Amino acid sequence: MATKSKIEWTDTTWNPVRGCTKISPGCKHCYASAFAERFRGVPGHPYERGFDLRLVTEKLLEPLSWAKGNMVFVNSMSDLFHPDIPDAFVVQVAQVMVKANWHTYQVLTKRADRLREMLQGPLEFAAVSPHIWWGVSVENVKHGVPRIERLRSSPATMKFLSIEPLLEDLGKVNLAGLNWVIVGGESGRGARALEEDWVLNILDRCRKQDVPFFFKQWGGVNKKKYGRLLGGKTYDEFPATNRREVPDRGVRERLIAEMEKKFSQFNGLVQIAN
Ligand code: SF4
Repeated sequence: MATKSKIEWTDTTWNPVRGCTKISPGCKHCYASAFAERFRGVPGHPYERGFDLRLVTEKLLEPLSWAKGNMVFVNSMSDLFHPDIPDAFVVQVAQVMVKANWHTYQVLTKRADRLREMLQGPLEFAAVSPHIWWGVSVENVKHGVPRIERLRSSPATMKFLSIEPLLEDLGKVNLAGLNWVIVGGESGRGARALEEDWVLNILDRCRKQDVPFFFKQWGGVNKKKYGRLLGGKTYDEFPATNRREVPDRGVRERLIAEMEKKFSQFNGLVQIAN
């Protein structure tokens, strides 16, 4: 059974990769890194090696075993398009998502160039699947906004933004062609401030360009204190989804056996990447 996530815009997380490296200002207080590093050196712990990048092959088929359709945040503890993750492994992750199509997947990256390249090439088969949502993180104008163009010009059917932590006003940001926008402020120690006008600007752009808007949180050192109301309202909008029926246990077991057989040919290719 999948574990319920505390992240407001998903049901559960799936981490066939763990670990990452920082790439832009949005990573400064990466919650995944802080969490993982707490367990560095703890024998037997999943994060025994802290936030070092590694492939978690034993988790690869996990969604095929889940008997309930979930909204699944893929790699909440990593970035699937990190340059050290082999193409063959990214393709395997996508093959599982295509096969376990009773879930909706939310794939989020800051490596938008590789995302686009792969969606145009070896991930073309998964780009068009409406139950796989491909997204980029956006934190500012300089590093974040260019990722939107990479995503927009990709062949993904479902495209979304996670604008979190929003670090400045994004101005007249173009949201055309996107299916969903999440906005949030940074939380935890040292959290950088979020201004209401920056959020209202994005809400206005969403309304003008007909994009569902989800306001996750104000953030801050104590995120519970500031909550997630914007102008007295909660914004929990999602794109329309068309959930498929969950196959029965026997069918799921057959799918797992089929994928295990298919993936065995890649055993030599999928190396621990740290
Ligand atoms: S890309 Fe994401 S997971 Fe990787 S360091 Fe930055 S915030 Fe953390």
